[in-house]
Amino acid sequence: ATAPLGRNVIPIVNRLQDIFAQLGSSSTVELPQVAVVGSQSSGKSSVLEALVGRDFLPRGSDICTRRPLMLQLVQIKRKNDGTDEEFGEFLHVPGKRFYDFNEIRREIQAETDREAGGNKGVSDKQIRLKIFSPNVLDITLVDLPGITKVPVGDQPSDIEALIRTMIMSYIKLPSCLILAVTPANSDLANSDALQIAGNADPDGYRTIGVITKLDIMDRGTDARHFLLGKVIPLRLGYVGVVNRSQEDIILNRTIKDALLAEEKFFRNHPVYNELADCCGVPQLAKKLNQILVKHIKTVLPGLKSHLSATLISVAKEHASYGEIIESKAGMESFLLNILSKYSAAFSSMIEGKYEEMSTS
Ligand code: GDP
Ligand code: MG
Repeated sequence: ATAPLGRNVIPIVNRLQDIFAQLGSSSTVELPQVAVVGSQSSGKSSVLEALVGRDFLPRGSDICTRRPLMLQLVQIKRKNDGTDEEFGEFLHVPGKRFYDFNEIRREIQAETDREAGGNKGVSDKQIRLKIFSPNVLDITLVDLPGITKVPVGDQPSDIEALIRTMIMSYIKLPSCLILAVTPANSDLANSDALQIAGNADPDGYRTIGVITKLDIMDRGTDARHFLLGKVIPLRLGYVGVVNRSQEDIILNRTIKDALLAEEKFFRNHPVYNELADCCGVPQLAKKLNQILVKHIKTVLPGLKSHLSATLISVAKEHASYGEIIESKAGMESFLLNILSKYSAAFSSMIEGKYEEMSTS
């Protein structure tokens, strides 16, 4: 099954990539990065995993993410016999394919220790992991250490400032989408996530609020006002989610079961069942996908002019060959054909897809 993140976007991006590949062009759609921010143990790694649909990140009640993890998803071709293979590769372990996702998690932990030590130390040196799968969108997700206030273990006394600077260095980039993760069992109005996201993106054009742990709020309270943006308004809105608890992790509960349990939780909840638009991991993925399609739409004019420029230069080259180099000219005219065919189909495809998505 396709990962929740990218479900509607993959066909569009694939078509675009096909077009550019046929043109022999390296230019293609660059999707924005998605980074998670928030306080320690707010559920950032859990949210990323749920979006990817695989288990491979260190998660837990203690500080687990101690170095930035650049997670690059790379789409590969599906095998003919239908057996999808998915594997990971680390930049620091060249040439080795990790087919076992538990081993990927162990390697992240080991590599974290190598750089940041075994005693809760933090480092701004990235770990770079690529996940290859037929079911993903080519996009980079960034898992970041959480904001923490009191130094523990080998952490320096200025740990909070250190982590804030590290987070800002990622989320200040105008092309970075920010998932601001706040646990529902904390004081939502004092969210570290929303505060730091607000510094990086004051107008809120690229921040989505994510409220985790809706299952363990104080009895008698709910996050309705917050999800509706009545406490801290956010242009792109909020999505509430329920990820796996620490007990679920210990019991090795699968991500698929967790998504089913989440769906049931929201369906049976007297308050959240009326807020379907802003509840659940699939809804978060949908929101992100819509933003990605919007992004593709905005970069489209640039791609189109690149396409026309290529078209013109190929046509000129073609003309200059005359009849001298038959085979080369044949190839060029073949290319020319593809180009003319696509440049028209190209825009209508995206426009159409976009309308379809924004009304659904
Ligand atoms: P991070 O430090 O922000 O990356 O947070 P993690 O994803 O590592 O999660 C921290 C702890 O909170 C883990 O024990 C998770 O199992 C737990 N957790 C995360 N999300 C939820 C949730 O929605 N509900 C419950 N009950 N526990 C959660
Ligand atoms: Mg984490």
